[in-house]
Amino acid sequence: MNKRDRKLGIGRSINRRDFISGVGVALSGSLMSCSWSETETPVNPSLLQKGSVKFYPPTRTGLRGSHPGSFEVAHQLMQGRRWDASEVEDSGESYDLVIVGGGLSGLSAAWFYRETRPDARILILDNHDDFGGHAKRNEFWYGDQMLLSHGGTINIEDFHQYGEAAQRLIRSLGIEPERYAEFSDWDFHRSIGLQRGVFFAKETFGSDRLVPGTGKPTWREFLKKTPLSEVARKDITRLYEEEVDYLAGLTLEEKRERLRHMSYQDFLVDVVGINPESLAILLEDSYWAIGIDALPAWTATGDGEPGTKGLGFSAESKEPLYFRFPDGNASIARLLVRSMIPDVAPGTGMEDIVSARFDYRRLDDKDSPVRVRLQSTVVGVRHIGAPETAREVEITYVRDGRAHRVLAGQTVLACYHSMIPALCEELPEHQKLALGQSLKAPLVYTSVMIRNWHAFTNLGVNSVHCPGCYFGSVRLSTPMSIGNYHHASSPDQPTIVNMYRTPLAPGLSAQEQWKVGRYDLLTTTFETFERNIRDQLDRILSPGGFDPARDIEAITVNRWPHGYAYGQDPETGEIAYTMDEVPLERAPWVVARRPFGRISIANSDAGANAMSETAIGQAHRAVMELLSA
Ligand SMILES: Cc1cc2nc3c(=O)[nH]c(=O)nc-3n(C[C@H](O)[C@H](O)[C@H](O)COP(=O)(O)OP(=O)(O)OC[C@H]3O[C@@H](n4cnc5c(N)ncnc54)[C@H](O)[C@@H]3O)c2cc1C
Repeated sequence: MNKRDRKLGIGRSINRRDFISGVGVALSGSLMSCSWSETETPVNPSLLQKGSVKFYPPTRTGLRGSHPGSFEVAHQLMQGRRWDASEVEDSGESYDLVIVGGGLSGLSAAWFYRETRPDARILILDNHDDFGGHAKRNEFWYGDQMLLSHGGTINIEDFHQYGEAAQRLIRSLGIEPERYAEFSDWDFHRSIGLQRGVFFAKETFGSDRLVPGTGKPTWREFLKKTPLSEVARKDITRLYEEEVDYLAGLTLEEKRERLRHMSYQDFLVDVVGINPESLAILLEDSYWAIGIDALPAWTATGDGEPGTKGLGFSAESKEPLYFRFPDGNASIARLLVRSMIPDVAPGTGMEDIVSARFDYRRLDDKDSPVRVRLQSTVVGVRHIGAPETAREVEITYVRDGRAHRVLAGQTVLACYHSMIPALCEELPEHQKLALGQSLKAPLVYTSVMIRNWHAFTNLGVNSVHCPGCYFGSVRLSTPMSIGNYHHASSPDQPTIVNMYRTPLAPGLSAQEQWKVGRYDLLTTTFETFERNIRDQLDRILSPGGFDPARDIEAITVNRWPHGYAYGQDPETGEIAYTMDEVPLERAPWVVARRPFGRISIANSDAGANAMSETAIGQAHRAVMELLSA
């Protein structure tokens, strides 16, 4: 081990599940046959023993999200592998409804179905070792203290914009978004002097420098402390502090057309006339899962990004009814599961769900009308007989390396659309083509447990934008207390740091960048993530007393190669970053989600929009189609 690795604490024993890269596992497939108990290494094993719970995936660390063992069978399917009848064991099971995918969409589909048919028997199949899809919980333990983080989906961003069905579901689960202020200590970090900051890394800016207080007290004052040139300082001040119509003389419609066909970066450089050096500290990549080189300028106007405010478009009003749990929307997934399988965890409301200990053995109980079967990748869905007249659908899934079949009266495919053509080969060709147009943008959300956060208070930051770094941002977890869960109120206490990475390849089209990003996630080992995490935290925080070898207690890297859902215009290839970008008559996701016999199609892909309300709303539509068929 070299000196730098020793300083970073690379060899130090922390909690992590494995060091196997995605590729290694894909080739060997060895983890697919591991049982949970074999791979379990909880942060606080004594606690698991106390509760006599053998496995509890939320405490797993290391590579999570699309974790090793979860995706290999699906990749085989996409590469042409098929499971013929001789390889498939008949489970003898039959359900009213089988749902493929246990994310928010699949779980909501089960919930809506039972709203109309309370006695329905439902099986939900998911390839991961935990339910929730992107809405995953990262749970850490420091002694007897539980610390939570979102592994993916963070929040209910704008409850007012949820459709009627999604609002009904959220309220029926006991979530009261209006009460967010009771649980969120939103002003806590500011009250103790912490602010946003920018980390200027030596690779891009010549030397490492953290500058706290982004834009404070004025942009000019803030920028004086940065390594940026005088030209860049003037540009950035102008962008943030002036509202200029840089397209004066054009009508709003003409402006819109121009902005739709140019990147935000080109708009800033070519139209606004700022120096390319000044681009460095603008918009974080993780917001849209794409950089400003590929994001259309029109999309940037929707959020009133710098340079767009004077163009005459009104930026979307952002006074949302917002809600989040300490583990993000994983609590919504947990509430859904507990509402349908009450034996899985004690409690009744949104306050106790946060600390409720789930007994994963109850998820797939043969006596329960709703069952969630994890580590089960569906590889085939077909009607028994002609789709128009069939009475049953056969679903084949692979678990522990063996293929099984179950029967269902009806099926909801709440999984990624791009794999549905391989899963369900009997679909019409034009629908398969439309399904194949769906896009997913990759993201990495990392949760790092640290034993105290004095370095943050010493440096006066709680959130750091890191342009050009491996992780685009580093943030202290949002202070929230709900039920008997309390956030770290003193810097002496352990806490979670969130680090976000968007693996991209600037200069290519967004579609190509996301493909490259997915490959990056598949081939990056845990060690590489760990080294980058330690290195980046060291360089930002060690001037405040942080020692990565001493202070990092656990790391969970949540890989989301199939992250944000986007649609695209099949004629122009333009991405629909917002829903109204592609005329509905040629929106491929409208064709893609058409019901077919006893099969209907959900997932956020069905609305080409990466928001929880879309996942829930599309589940409702899919279920209504089945129930009215
Ligand atoms: C990192 C990240 C952060 C986000 N943050 C927010 C946020 O803050 N607020 C918000 O509103 N939205 C957010 N979103 C979007 C939101 O998470 C999604 O829209 C929503 O959770 C998608 O749910 P879903 O059920 O449609 O899909 P998924 O969550 O992807 O669930 C689908 C499930 O099906 C499984 N599956 C796929 N194929 C198969 C198969 N063949 N067999 C078995 N299972 C299969 C998948 O592995 C997955 O578990 C975020 C998304 C990401 C990726």
